[in-house]
Amino acid sequence: MNAATHRPSTAAAQEFLARGNHRMLIGADWREAASGETLASIDPASGEILGHVPRGAAADVDEAVMAARSAFRDGAWRKATPAARAAVLHRIAELMEAEIDALAELETLDQGKPLYVGRWAEIPGAIAQFRYFAGAVSKLEGTQIPTGIDYQPPGKEVFAYTLREPIGVVGAIVPWNSPLVLTAMKLAPALAAGCSVVLKPAEDTSLTALRLAEIARAAGLPSGVLNVVTGLGSEAGAALAEHPGVDKITFTGSTRTGRSIVEAAARSNLKRVSLELGGKSPVIIFGDADIDAAIAGAANSIFFNGGQVCVAGSRLYAERSVYDRVVEGIANYARGLKLGHGLDSATQIGPLISRTHAARVADYVRAGIAGGAEAVTGGERHQGSAFFNPTVLTGVTPDMAVVREEIFGPVLVATPFDEFDEVVALSNDSDYGLAAGVWTSSLSRAHRAAAAIEAGTIWINTHLMFDASLPIGGMKQSGWGRDSGHQAIANYLETKTVCAVI
Ligand code: NAD
Repeated sequence: MNAATHRPSTAAAQEFLARGNHRMLIGADWREAASGETLASIDPASGEILGHVPRGAAADVDEAVMAARSAFRDGAWRKATPAARAAVLHRIAELMEAEIDALAELETLDQGKPLYVGRWAEIPGAIAQFRYFAGAVSKLEGTQIPTGIDYQPPGKEVFAYTLREPIGVVGAIVPWNSPLVLTAMKLAPALAAGCSVVLKPAEDTSLTALRLAEIARAAGLPSGVLNVVTGLGSEAGAALAEHPGVDKITFTGSTRTGRSIVEAAARSNLKRVSLELGGKSPVIIFGDADIDAAIAGAANSIFFNGGQVCVAGSRLYAERSVYDRVVEGIANYARGLKLGHGLDSATQIGPLISRTHAARVADYVRAGIAGGAEAVTGGERHQGSAFFNPTVLTGVTPDMAVVREEIFGPVLVATPFDEFDEVVALSNDSDYGLAAGVWTSSLSRAHRAAAAIEAGTIWINTHLMFDASLPIGGMKQSGWGRDSGHQAIANYLETKTVCAVI
């Protein structure tokens, strides 16, 4: 395994990293934290420090919220014509595209993912968000409503309609697993709606958010419309969630943090909250499926990005007639995956985000094995590093933590089933409801399963297919609301009813 220090090949990524000490954006200024403190950005593969970002906290969040509020009041963005706003969003997409290789390299160095994941999936996905919501800006229409009111003065009429107005100052808090695309999923609709934003990237992966803010300014976004405060969740994130000057928090991250954000919103100003949270998504393989395709699809659904994907297919249910073949097939796939530094072109699976996280994944696996599970393959961490071998556990029971809790690593738990109703019940026996995969050649079984499974996204004979047009989000404790798709813009709008006697 080649985890040694790697350097980016693009001049733009080299130039960005050469700065060493990065600054965050508040209003028109690139600043250090008020405290002067910083956090290290670390390449999780090599452990090397890539640079430092400001350790923003409550005082910085306060300034950023004031800058966002002032920009919102001023209206340079909010009141700009739809065509002008759309042009800036398209320009952001163009500038991102012009440095797509550099953005992918920065993401790999900061997050660990194999370069191809950023270059061919996530950065294009981020760009697509800006293009998709650029198209939405000109379609934010209210409605004229015929009412049942009949008590207006004689000779008068009632004229009623709705306006759709930007919600105001949005706090966007995002996680580290797919930093740039998850950030774009917040920023693109919020900016399209005319809001001002304070973005708090994850402490482990702030670099591409800072570069995106530079791109947004270069694209013509007025000052104060996008502010970025880097820092810890417990400091900058919590301060944003508590801030009475924030009208809405849009959050992607763990269910635990989502709950604390809801509590902070309730305590402070009842700000609106939308939440994209964790998952423990089932993958169901029926005996009549194209088994080779199902094996490859199920394996990819849990090992892609090292399993650090909210919709990862982490619970496998295979019909008993094909169970052994499926488990062996996925285990073979896992054994063949090449671990290494994300910038090494041979790498198929990178490190986890940090050594701490790898230790957490190892604890889950150890507890599962102690409880009676068997590791068909994997199960170990590489010598204290952030690398964890892709793992398949069998002999699990529904009460085990490895089956119930989100591990957020390359760990699959496998269970056989006999009946349709049984596998639906097993799939739904979860606090989460983010996604599911169903593999079958029966059209009717596929659509009956899609209807019966409690999840925000159902994939049939595929997994991990995303598009800016497809709503994504969770049922149950996987979240509130949806990102992507045209309805996502409603997260950032208020409906105002105007009722007049004319
Ligand atoms: P996390 O909840 O620890 O952190 C997410 C973000 O919240 C980070 O920016 C962090 O700094 C911030 N934060 C932490 N504590 C906070 C607090 N008290 N107040 C405000 N902000 C706080 O999650 P993570 O470990 O970074 O990310 C992994 C999680 O994200 C997984 O549970 C995964 O399923 C979830 N996720 C969900 C989706 C989705 O679309 N549903 C997508 C990606 C990731």
